[in-house]
Amino acid sequence: MPDLIPARMLAEFAYCPRLCYIEWIDGEFADNEDTVDGRFQHRRVDEDTENDPMDDDLEAIHLRSVSLAGPEVGVTCRIDLLEKEGKRATPVEYKRGKAPDIPEGAYEPERVQLCAQGLVLRENGFQCEQGIVYFVRSRKRVPVTFDKALVKRTRGLISELRRAAIEKKIPPPLKESPKCNRCSLAGICLPDEVNLLREMEEKRGSEKGIMVRVRKLIPARDDYQPVYVVGHGNSLRKKGDVLEIWSRDEGRIKEVRLREISQVNLYGAVDVSTPALVDLMQRGIPVLHFTRGGWFQGVSLGHTHKNVELRMKQFEWAADRKRSLAIARSMISGKIKNCRTQLRRNDPEPSAAVLESLDRLSRDAKKASSAEKLLGIEGAAAELYFGRLDRLLKGNEDFSLQSRNRRPPKDPVNAVLSYLYAVLAKEMFVTLLAVGFDPYLGFYHRPRYGRPALALDMMEEFRPMIADSTAITLFNKRELGDKDFIRTGLGIALTSKGKKTVIGGYERQMEAEITHPLFGYTVSYRRIFEVQVRLLSRVLFGEIKEYPAFSRR
Ligand code: SF4
Repeated sequence: MPDLIPARMLAEFAYCPRLCYIEWIDGEFADNEDTVDGRFQHRRVDEDTENDPMDDDLEAIHLRSVSLAGPEVGVTCRIDLLEKEGKRATPVEYKRGKAPDIPEGAYEPERVQLCAQGLVLRENGFQCEQGIVYFVRSRKRVPVTFDKALVKRTRGLISELRRAAIEKKIPPPLKESPKCNRCSLAGICLPDEVNLLREMEEKRGSEKGIMVRVRKLIPARDDYQPVYVVGHGNSLRKKGDVLEIWSRDEGRIKEVRLREISQVNLYGAVDVSTPALVDLMQRGIPVLHFTRGGWFQGVSLGHTHKNVELRMKQFEWAADRKRSLAIARSMISGKIKNCRTQLRRNDPEPSAAVLESLDRLSRDAKKASSAEKLLGIEGAAAELYFGRLDRLLKGNEDFSLQSRNRRPPKDPVNAVLSYLYAVLAKEMFVTLLAVGFDPYLGFYHRPRYGRPALALDMMEEFRPMIADSTAITLFNKRELGDKDFIRTGLGIALTSKGKKTVIGGYERQMEAEITHPLFGYTVSYRRIFEVQVRLLSRVLFGEIKEYPAFSRR
């Protein structure tokens, strides 16, 4: 941990210890309306005043954005406004919003932050007995006296936060707290989801008597959109805040605001200008490169995620066969359940024997005593599942699936499935990176040079619901036809137009809103990916014992 605690983090620790931990120790942050507005309100006081004179005149002097450190008290701070008169100093903290109608005049986190600033000022030789909270919306100055009780509380919180940082133990989520409703980190913290899973584990998986109600604190959909550029001869350029897509033959074919992009996917030889690439990297938007055939080649990314603790945990777990197997068992069991659900819902004449076998195999997967046995169970389930999948292609007699084959696929259905699995792996790759994982080190797929093993692990439970469903819908609705495929010497491949159609179908599926089977709220699959990846991180940190694979009923 850094030697000194920022006073701002102390305020967050007083508000919610977990919030502070996620932001400060894990290095995660997410904006919402409140945080953006907060920055806007601070714009004036954040002006750079490095050149302001720091003299000792007896006249009152106002200094803005003063950075100070107090090694003894263990705090560093940036004071919005310092009112100074000789040796007497009063820190002023700007807060958006109105002054609360409470006896103390300001909430505890604000008073603690000010008091920490006061202690730092004292250590730097100033007399400092009180501070001011200035509430921007009500234009009100609220004095805060640094009495014994507040100083004791502030020092106590400094020690507690220091201990949490040294022990590297994330504090538990608040329970049914209204604070979570407006918390920008709710989608990272997952307070109700973690509380529910912990309670379920305490009650040994039974849902009876569970008191936690899961609020939908995460946005249903992602406001950011992925950009796909398919085909040789296309290029990407930046113009102001816009990313332009150019075709060699047709000129500019599309433009997207850079701030609305979540990821850029390039298929085949697509040129990217240096200004466009640098801007994308600075914004943390990954640029993914694929071959024309859809094989993932690599990613251009700015800085890596700051959550080094998570990567250390991931390496520790991946090196431990027993713990890796526990995660893999849940993933494969969830995948088999989803294969079963897919057949039960969409097979015109579902086979009771096949459904029963898949049910049994899903339970066997949960108990598999080795990775090899788990592989065997997964193989047996795949054989049953793909043996029936052809029956789901009921709307288009021109296409069928005799068996699953790949590298290269021998028929159009397999070509589409292979392509979709590659797209799905890419999506999971990006989600894992965004959360702070290393996508190349998995718990089920063994490490191999260039293989995104963890992305392949995490996509297992989503294959039937996303990739297989998309393929079936595209064929049944006749969105794909003969003209979308080309026969090569060895097999079948999608044409450029065919790929665009497949990506369109995939995006529709990813943005479709579904009811989460465990948490009960309605969200898109893209959001569910993130929730699952974050839940995996909670398993590695010991917050929940078992990885809860996503499985639809
Ligand atoms: S969502 Fe709630 S528990 Fe989680 S960090 Fe925010 S306030 Fe704390």
